[in-house]
Amino acid sequence: MLRKSVNNNSKKPKDNVELITIKSFKHKTKQLKSLLKNKLWLQVIIALIFGIAFGIILGPTIGIFSAQTANTISDWVAIPGNIFLSVIQMVVIPLIFASIILGIASSKNIKQLKKIGVTITIYFIITTTIAIIIGIFITNLINPGQYINKDVLVISDQGSSQDVSVDLVDNSKNTVPNLITNIFPTNVFSSIIKGEMLPIVIFTIIFGIALINIKPKQSEPLLEVLSSLQDVCITIVKWAMVLAPIAVFGLITKVTSQFGIDTLSGLGAYMLTVILGLLILVIVYLLIVYFIVKENPFRFLSNIRDVQLLAFSTSSSAVVMPISIKTAEEKLKVRPSIAQFIIPLGTTINMDGTALYQAVATIFLAQVYGVNIGLTALLFLIVTIVGASIGTPGTPGVGIVILAVILTSVGIPLLGIALIIGVDRILDMCRTAVNVTGDLTASLFINKVIK
Ligand code: ASP
Repeated sequence: MLRKSVNNNSKKPKDNVELITIKSFKHKTKQLKSLLKNKLWLQVIIALIFGIAFGIILGPTIGIFSAQTANTISDWVAIPGNIFLSVIQMVVIPLIFASIILGIASSKNIKQLKKIGVTITIYFIITTTIAIIIGIFITNLINPGQYINKDVLVISDQGSSQDVSVDLVDNSKNTVPNLITNIFPTNVFSSIIKGEMLPIVIFTIIFGIALINIKPKQSEPLLEVLSSLQDVCITIVKWAMVLAPIAVFGLITKVTSQFGIDTLSGLGAYMLTVILGLLILVIVYLLIVYFIVKENPFRFLSNIRDVQLLAFSTSSSAVVMPISIKTAEEKLKVRPSIAQFIIPLGTTINMDGTALYQAVATIFLAQVYGVNIGLTALLFLIVTIVGASIGTPGTPGVGIVILAVILTSVGIPLLGIALIIGVDRILDMCRTAVNVTGDLTASLFINKVIK
């Protein structure tokens, strides 16, 4: 009986089938909209400035408070920020699930869906490779490794670095082939529990394609449910957004209070290299916007500043994903079917900022440790980082965890991570802002090239 109905269903797919039309995020997010209209970016910038100032007052540079007191105060101040992150994170998985499926279901036809899939995969691989090449090039040009004094290296070799690297990576499991194999979940619920985004996205895509291959009469009820699920998630995001400015203040206070001048000294050239590389990458995006999408790049930047600032403040592209979708649809005028498919996908597998950072960090540590990376190793490095950035989830600090895998693959001591981990949060903020810029550029690009 069951088999019969499955067989019947599988006969259904046709390339020119008109699939269900989904509603845009727009009508679902009126209140979110009013918040953004209230110049969210300005509120966030003010919160950032106050957060940095308060963090400096608490931090070791001024030294009014003991480390313990500063820590306690900043923990309290960070409470709204942590609640903000948790509330959004709790709806990210159902939102990804609903949005990707609704995005797939609303493509004009299966042929178009294939076209989008192939184009976006090629686009992601090319832009990630460009990001890595920029990273390698700029690190060789600036050579930040030369500014590291060897005493620091000895300390990092003997000190806590051993624990850091052991904590960060279990080499036997984190090989690149393993990372690639594991993107296909055997049990999607276990991936949900572990928060592994990529297997969830892969499952969702397979699920979505299967859904549009069954009779519309059978798929419509589920699509209705998913649309309601999306509404519920957006409503929760909207509630959390009320906390956004105060959340940013607390999170930034916490980050800043942990940095003293000592942490930053010596690594200035390295940080500058990463930041300069990221800026060049943003220029590449603006060129895509100008020459391919034929839009004004400055208008593009001003349209996406809320998203960039929130990504910068939260260090999580997954957290800002709902705002990214909304911005793509409303401000960049990307079609809902594209925005709701490309943004969640990009959030999970397209991490250009992270890839660039990983390339810079690897070459920098190679310079510090005097490891010579030849042309073959360089090519291998590019492929490894492209693979790794696909497997990196959009949450704070994971870029450096995956970096450990990359370092092992090119023979650089893992202990080097101890050297750069102190400034990682600042670089994480910058690369996350670039990651979301990359996803938004991608949605605009697909919107333009696929009609
Ligand atoms: N925090 C980054 C993101 O969410 C990932 C990383 O650690 O590089 O995009």
